[in-house]
Amino acid sequence: MDANCIFCKIVVKQIPASVVYEDEKTLAFLDINPLTEGHTLVIPKAHTVSIFDISADDFKHISAVAQKISNNMKTAIAADGVDLVQASGEAANQTVPHFHLHVIPR
Ligand code: 5GP
Ligand code: ZN
Repeated sequence: MDANCIFCKIVVKQIPASVVYEDEKTLAFLDINPLTEGHTLVIPKAHTVSIFDISADDFKHISAVAQKISNNMKTAIAADGVDLVQASGEAANQTVPHFHLHVIPR
């Protein structure tokens, strides 16, 4: 855990979040400033900054979780489509330096 990282604080429940999925390695929770209703962030529990340092295993696992969440959005909230967005690095406008994959129902 990185003591200065807001998403690490969400992982250890120091900061509240609306969690939609959790397992040993991964947490998914609603974005505080959603682009659409249900906008979800999927993160590794281990502090990892971006696509450049996440392990291939964690990235695979997060992708599988994002697929499950996408399918749930289709059935549970009748999403017609889903955007998966991931920003790595300041140049890509990443604002929180803990890896997160956006799952945005459309
Ligand atoms: P980025 O711009 O890095 O791709 O996305 C960061 C996202 O994290 C933004 O959509 C922002 O609304 C969300 N966010 C920032 N701080 C918090 C927080 O404390 N809680 C939650 N749930 N989302 C956050
Ligand atoms: Zn972190």
